[in-house]
Amino acid sequence: MPLDITTFTLVDKPTTLKESLAILERDDYRCVYCGLDGRASFENALVMRVDFVVPRAKKGKKDPKNLVACCGPCNTIKGTRVYKSFDHAKEYVLAGREELRKAWEAKQRRPAAKAAKA
Ligand SMILES: [Zn+2]
Repeated sequence: MPLDITTFTLVDKPTTLKESLAILERDDYRCVYCGLDGRASFENALVMRVDFVVPRAKKGKKDPKNLVACCGPCNTIKGTRVYKSFDHAKEYVLAGREELRKAWEAKQRRPAAKAAKA
């Protein structure tokens, strides 16, 4: 078991490629949080990850019951918090996505910056 140097605790190992592919296959290559279809395009496939529902840093185990298919953005939003349940984690992730969407949409409404003169 490797040592997590940020917490000085022993953590479970990351999933191997073979283990990750088994989880992605089980979850049909769809992000369990936002539903992104990892098979829809090459770009979607590139962002697919396997998430430890209870993070390794918080003593989450490398057990299929604790592993889910997830996209990179949802994985980042979820972070290394520990949630009461999977449903709470999903609620948090979807709320985070919505917040980012609103910020992005607000930015889109601003007038475009003028191109620099040559
Ligand atoms: Zn997602």
